Amino acid sequence: MPTKNQVVSAVAQKPSPSRPLIQVAAGASLFEERIENDSLDAIRAAIGGNCTRCKLHKGRTNLVFGVGNPKADLVFIGEGPGHDEDMQGEPFVGRAGKLLTQMIEAMGLRRQDVYICNVVKCRPPDNRLPEKDEIATCSPFLLRQLAAIQPKVICTLGACSAQTLLQTTQGISRFRGEWFDFRGAKLIATYHPAFLLRNPPAKANVWKDLQKIMAHLGLQPARKQGSATS
Ligand code: URA
Repeated sequence: MPTKNQVVSAVAQKPSPSRPLIQVAAGASLFEERIENDSLDAIRAAIGGNCTRCKLHKGRTNLVFGVGNPKADLVFIGEGPGHDEDMQGEPFVGRAGKLLTQMIEAMGLRRQDVYICNVVKCRPPDNRLPEKDEIATCSPFLLRQLAAIQPKVICTLGACSAQTLLQTTQGISRFRGEWFDFRGAKLIATYHPAFLLRNPPAKANVWKDLQKIMAHLGLQPARKQGSATS
């Protein structure tokens, strides 16, 4: 874990008095400090078949490790599995997941082109937020996944994953849509698809964020601008 004196300024694109830079904790580079020969299979094996490291295991049906391209340029990170994900063992397969799939397709990609995972791998009861100890226990595996994949861009979905990776308690609306350097990869935080289902007007901002990612990765939209999030 980074120490206080490893904290460095984030590289937000357009700092302004209303959206000041947040402080981002530096850490081992995803590219230089990765475990030699680490792989998603090795990380899944390290978690084990019946993980009991945190209390979330008590209500779990299936551990939800992650899905997609192990060499993806783009990784999406949610918060934790919900009911549908717990039942199926795959992240983002419920209503919010269908919207995420539409977002990915609007970017000119397919779900299998990207990698999708969560901060915690077991469903929090009643879909509550993952708690600090659960995040602390599970997030080292997330960091290993990111180091194994070595994506160009990490897109966090919602406050939990953004705050976990950026090690901040600031509200997501303060830094959503800004670029950060995360251990050698680019990170951008956007709103969670479940939030968009409740607040459709926020889709316009999310589409702006996705367009920034597309520009960085040289992607062309599949359909007319904004169609997936309208
Ligand atoms: N919400 C999340 O954060 N992750 C999922 O996998 C599904 C819903």
